[in-house]
Amino acid sequence: MRWENRRQSSNVEDRRGMSAGKKGTGIVGIIVLLIGMYYGVDLSGIVGAPQLGSGQVQQSALPPQEEEQLNQLSRVVMAETEDSWGQYFQSKGTKYTVPTLVLYNGYTTTSCGTGQAAMGPFYCPNDQKVYLDLSFYEDLKNKLGAQGGAAAFAYVIAHEVGHHVQNLLGVLPQVHQAQSRSNEAQSNELSVRLELQADCFAGVWAKSAEKDGMWEQTDMAQAIDAAEAVGDDRIQKRAQGYAVPDSFTHGSAEQRKTWFQRGFVNGDPNQCNTFS
Ligand SMILES: [Zn+2]
Repeated sequence: MRWENRRQSSNVEDRRGMSAGKKGTGIVGIIVLLIGMYYGVDLSGIVGAPQLGSGQVQQSALPPQEEEQLNQLSRVVMAETEDSWGQYFQSKGTKYTVPTLVLYNGYTTTSCGTGQAAMGPFYCPNDQKVYLDLSFYEDLKNKLGAQGGAAAFAYVIAHEVGHHVQNLLGVLPQVHQAQSRSNEAQSNELSVRLELQADCFAGVWAKSAEKDGMWEQTDMAQAIDAAEAVGDDRIQKRAQGYAVPDSFTHGSAEQRKTWFQRGFVNGDPNQCNTFS
């Protein structure tokens, strides 16, 4: 991926190295985890139990140079999503409201509850922010078994931005409402469709990045490899040795690969109807 020396987004809130909790409020130690609507990869089964504390300064586990590379890469990817989705919404006669990228270490406060790195990157529709702990890059390789690479990380970010696009299009609130009337199996099925659409949107973004000279031919393999690595069957097999399709909330490796490719080949969000 030719991402260096490209525009970096300014819609970034950098909370890295910040104190994770407020001291002196009297309710130290009570931490509410993410509740209700949020859209991310749930890695808690693989990454291990969250280590929650309060008031302590969170530090990155990454070597400084790698941390800085990933920091810049994330900002460039965000900028590219702003450009491509901005154009798309403009072509529809509407405006693209840009999401904010929040960089943090360990865990952080969100409008959807407390976010933590063990949940992987996620999007919170209540505050329209994408939450990312850069150390996910290493989790993607070491814990999820992906080969990694800039395009793999870009896919993950573009997927979360895909949820933001769903939010702007009204898909997220609609599905969330339908889920509240569904049983667990139906609700999971709706969740899978949401996730696959976000994958398809990530593919649409990659196509646009290709047009802009950022996405290279060899990037496809890296991105597909990452999409497969975060498939529910792969994650469940890694965590427990077997997969339970009814419990899938994001789709299988095969489905995720297919929808990402479909978005890329068509370059058109209208071809991303996973609900039909
Ligand atoms: Zn997602």
